[in-house]
Amino acid sequence: MNYELPSLPYEMNALEPHISAETLEYHYGKHHRKYVNTLNELIAGSEFEDMPLESIIQKANGPIFNNAAQVWNHAFYWNCLSPKGGGEPVGKLAEAIENSYRSFHQFKEEFTKQATALFGAGWVWLVKGMDETVAIEQTKDGDNPLTRGRIVLLTCDMWEHAYYIDYRNDKGRYLDAFWNLVNWDIAASNFDRG
Ligand code: MN
Repeated sequence: MNYELPSLPYEMNALEPHISAETLEYHYGKHHRKYVNTLNELIAGSEFEDMPLESIIQKANGPIFNNAAQVWNHAFYWNCLSPKGGGEPVGKLAEAIENSYRSFHQFKEEFTKQATALFGAGWVWLVKGMDETVAIEQTKDGDNPLTRGRIVLLTCDMWEHAYYIDYRNDKGRYLDAFWNLVNWDIAASNFDRG
């Protein structure tokens, strides 16, 4: 079985002016595609060949894990962004954020702080905790919180390829762009299903 690059949930230029079509042409069209192609090469003829992606992430190590996790992480990330995104969450997720971080504003500051402070390549996540709480987690390289059984709600890609074309080394401006695009509807449905 071959994994396929999932289609982007919007046009390449749909996230402008926050994230450019050029960034998506590289980030989705080259980086994400490369992870899919490399994963297919690595699992051909192996025990992982017919496994669902989530199972590979749970069981594999090394290059197979890295590429499988990056395939999953990017598909998840594209869905965390929307041309109609931004603003604030509503409903149970909004309540959970307020309970865990006192206010949406404080949550946003803390998430931004952890994202911009992440050293090297990685991801920042919002995960669902016990008792309807939420927490922010950083992961390195391709790692993701699924390996620790977490329910993930939202992520921000903090690899340089996510922002270098548009914002060079300015992670803060990339985070501003991220907040303008966050798909809170998807994050809320991840929370409700989790
Ligand atoms: Mn990326």
